[in-house]
Amino acid sequence: MNPTSTLGPTSMRAMKPRGSRNIGIAETKARAGSLLEQGAAFTRLEADALQAAGGQAPSDDKTRPALREEHVDVVVIGAGQNGLSVGYHLARRGLKFVILEARERVGDIWRSRWDSLRLFTPARFDGLIGMPFPSDRYSFPSKDDMADYLEAYAIKFSLPVRTGVKVDEVTRSGDRYIVTSGRTRYVASHVVAAASSYQKPKIPDFAALLDPSIRQLPSSAYRNPSQLNPGGVLLVGAGNSGAEIAMDLAPTHQVWLAGRHPGNIPVAYNGYFAMRLVLPVVFRLVFHRLLTVDTPMGRKAKPEQLSHGLPLIRVKPRDLDAAGVRRVSRVAGVQDGKPMLDDSQVLDVANIIWCTGFRAGLDWIRLPIFDETGRVKQYRGAVDGEPGLYVCGLHFQHSTSSTMIHGAARDAGYVADRIGERLRAAAR
Ligand SMILES: Cc1cc2nc3c(=O)[nH]c(=O)nc-3n(C[C@H](O)[C@H](O)[C@H](O)COP(=O)(O)OP(=O)(O)OC[C@H]3O[C@@H](n4cnc5c(N)ncnc54)[C@H](O)[C@@H]3O)c2cc1C
Repeated sequence: MNPTSTLGPTSMRAMKPRGSRNIGIAETKARAGSLLEQGAAFTRLEADALQAAGGQAPSDDKTRPALREEHVDVVVIGAGQNGLSVGYHLARRGLKFVILEARERVGDIWRSRWDSLRLFTPARFDGLIGMPFPSDRYSFPSKDDMADYLEAYAIKFSLPVRTGVKVDEVTRSGDRYIVTSGRTRYVASHVVAAASSYQKPKIPDFAALLDPSIRQLPSSAYRNPSQLNPGGVLLVGAGNSGAEIAMDLAPTHQVWLAGRHPGNIPVAYNGYFAMRLVLPVVFRLVFHRLLTVDTPMGRKAKPEQLSHGLPLIRVKPRDLDAAGVRRVSRVAGVQDGKPMLDDSQVLDVANIIWCTGFRAGLDWIRLPIFDETGRVKQYRGAVDGEPGLYVCGLHFQHSTSSTMIHGAARDAGYVADRIGERLRAAAR
């Protein structure tokens, strides 16, 4: 195919990754401005172009016809670890693409997570393909280090990221996908939705029956203890986020952690033995090679992981006990405005944080790609019945590692390979 672009000065640049030197986090901070400006410049130029054409700046008003159309081989939606990894692989194959990112800066999703968050994977497992994480390999980077690393990655490989561009919907017209953002339409033969498995918190309906004086937050909105009412905190969901937030709150609040214990890695997490032997075996071998949709063991583990998440990686039950966190059974409903457990115990708490997981939140893809449980029907990211449409970063998309940083490269490479094959076949 021979795509034509109606874009002016912001059209795509050369996209081959440069074999340039690694960029450290400090340098990233200094250089991030240029990336930010890129996004802002695009928005400005777009507004200017629209005004010159007698239109108005982009808006969410979909009643007006789109004023601007751009044709491109591939649109990648989302510039997190998965979108950037897909970008890396597409660029290596010399393909024409653009990465659309809703937020103002690459990495903002990490910046918006709670203040004390450190990655549970050591730096040796936190680098994306082509650029090791610039920290001691046995240290645990902070969430802001991770954010800055992603920004540095986009800069190092000159990935064509457009920030501040939120995709409103994806539809199809014949053999082309139409990606709409405000009044701009991107027309592409291939779309990769790499917009995360963590977009929409799952909160049970009975939350609406809780007394309004109880402060309720999804884990994605939790930042630090100062956000909460004085008094007890109930964390609903005892997975990794619930356990980590419990440890964050334990010094200042009485904390209850409700839910089934998902199991845990049974060794001291940051000891010499764990760092050099156990974690590589767990992350590289078990999560990446053994537990995949292509192995019997993986197919057995998949439903369990989709409903209960991963075992506790860093926090151990004994850490929770030592911090005074009270571990209780599942929250089953509400009685007199208060949360009630499935053993009928009613808890008098001033705060509830829902750590009950997330949905991918891809309902803006207006195509029949979801099964009865709302999950995308796909194999290794290739969406069933929609040639040219891909997803990346879904829970157990291919393996346990599909939603982890060290798993991004393989899944993204597979998707880029399929896209490359299709484009080559179309050009013949
Ligand atoms: C609290 C927490 C801690 C974690 N810690 C670790 C860890 O230590 N190690 C590890 O390996 N994994 C960890 N993970 C899992 C995983 O690595 C992260 O969730 C990671 O952010 C997922 O990357 P992603 O690229 O799939 O999605 P995201 O990082 O969420 O990126 C998706 C991007 O898409 C953009 N987007 C979404 N919708 C649109 C739209 N409509 N239009 C345009 N852009 C859009 C978003 O703004 C976002 O920037 C953690 C997850 C959580 C929730």
